[in-house]
Amino acid sequence: MKYRDQRVVSAAREEDFTCQFCGAAVSSEAAGSLHRNHCPRCLASIHLDDKPGDRASDCHGRMDAMAVWVRQNGEWAVIHRCRTCGVLHSNRIAADDNSLLLLSIAVKPLAEPPFPLGLLERSMAQESGVQSE
Ligand SMILES: [Zn+2]
Ligand SMILES: [Zn+2]
Repeated sequence: MKYRDQRVVSAAREEDFTCQFCGAAVSSEAAGSLHRNHCPRCLASIHLDDKPGDRASDCHGRMDAMAVWVRQNGEWAVIHRCRTCGVLHSNRIAADDNSLLLLSIAVKPLAEPPFPLGLLERSMAQESGVQSE
């Protein structure tokens, strides 16, 4: 286990990169996390891993951040979906990730509900037995 951790650290150090989707210059050292696996500006990633950090996938498709969820400890994580093969990965967010973009992903289902919000109000009123005027 110790050996594996060291390998991950040294791999991360070599991974300063320019985001091929938005052009941001990304330093892996600034992340405050051991493996930066997505761009802090556009949150896009590349499908390199089967398991986090293993670099075992040869898909290399673009992965878009499509959802945010909250882990048991309250930490936010991002769900990435690969455009090429459709696989879903959950990734921890980094301290310098684009917080505005994270928020907009998080509220998107609320901002674009699949039904009119007026209908929701009516059905909630029916469930609680309250007559809405
Ligand atoms: Zn980017
Ligand atoms: Zn893929």
